[in-house]
Amino acid sequence: MAGVKAADRCPGVLRPHSAEDGAVVRLRLPGGQTTAEVVSALSSLAETYGNPDLQLTSRAGIQLRGLPDPLPPGVARTLLGLGLLPSLPHERVRNIVASPLTGVTGGRADLRGLIHDLDHAIIAEPALAALPGRFLFVLDDGRDDVTDRPFDLGYRATDGRTGHVLVGGAALGFPVPIERAVDTLIELAVGFLQAQHTSGVWHVRELPDWITGIANLGPVPQPHPGAGCGTVGDLGAAAGVAVPLGLLTPAQAAALARVAPGPLVITPWRGVVVPGGAAGLAILAEAGLGTDPGSPWSVITACVGGPWCARSAGSTRAAAYDLAAAGRPPTRVHISGCERRCGAPSGDHRDILVRPEPAVSRSSGAGS
Ligand code: SF4
Repeated sequence: MAGVKAADRCPGVLRPHSAEDGAVVRLRLPGGQTTAEVVSALSSLAETYGNPDLQLTSRAGIQLRGLPDPLPPGVARTLLGLGLLPSLPHERVRNIVASPLTGVTGGRADLRGLIHDLDHAIIAEPALAALPGRFLFVLDDGRDDVTDRPFDLGYRATDGRTGHVLVGGAALGFPVPIERAVDTLIELAVGFLQAQHTSGVWHVRELPDWITGIANLGPVPQPHPGAGCGTVGDLGAAAGVAVPLGLLTPAQAAALARVAPGPLVITPWRGVVVPGGAAGLAILAEAGLGTDPGSPWSVITACVGGPWCARSAGSTRAAAYDLAAAGRPPTRVHISGCERRCGAPSGDHRDILVRPEPAVSRSSGAGS
């Protein structure tokens, strides 16, 4: 499996991606943890310089797009001021997906401290600036909602004191007390970098010989996929919303700030959890956010498509709105503008490819 790969082109602020609609900047928000203040500031920045909608990513981050290329100095200055670039060398490697409801409701452990500590430990290790931009850490609070995706290193809590460090996916790992989890993950990430040095591979699963050499590694209890994925609607004191196509408009960002001015959590399903926001669900619905677990936007996703991407055969967003108008599809659906199928979910879903004339669809298992 090992082999020299093409250049790692994951975009960031220091190295924006050039799209048809301008520069795209991807911001990492470890665990999706942020605040209404930051989202409001990003929304203002987007309105000032580019496409006014904030694009939520499948790693619970935020992209700004349609920006001038090269970026105006004011963009980077604002992002630095918001604390979104705590280490320039590590900008593209702070990729941590975590259970979005951890510490809010349910789960076997509150992993918010672990998210913070892992992010800081990554930044504190100079060698890890060389991690591939695609390398992914996951932190699952025991509800099995984020370990069903491809990832490199992870931790799944058994309870508030113990859990398993996971290597190369959810199948293999070893038990670790929570106070050792961050150090263990950092040691493994450094070990991966040393092992992949000459091969140039991007992922742990591409180095099976290195995996089998890890002490104490063995099969671990398997997750129950989908067990904890309900993040839309009334979540106890919290509110959960689905953001149509992951594009958060300025009016929706303002509604989030109005409902709860404090912490927000971006979900890996392109939604937002608003701790303490349950009383504001009507305001969020009025802004066009999906607040019902039966919302079509909780199961419909699409790549950015045309005209933002030159490869697209048509408007994926128009196709998605047509589909949503017919009600909630019975299964998850992803609409793509070309065979690359960017952003397709990892689990079972219906796969629709937009064609100039007419759209065609087929069933699919795992997305590419
Ligand atoms: S799937 Fe194709 S059309 Fe859609 S964003 Fe990716 S490259 Fe562009």
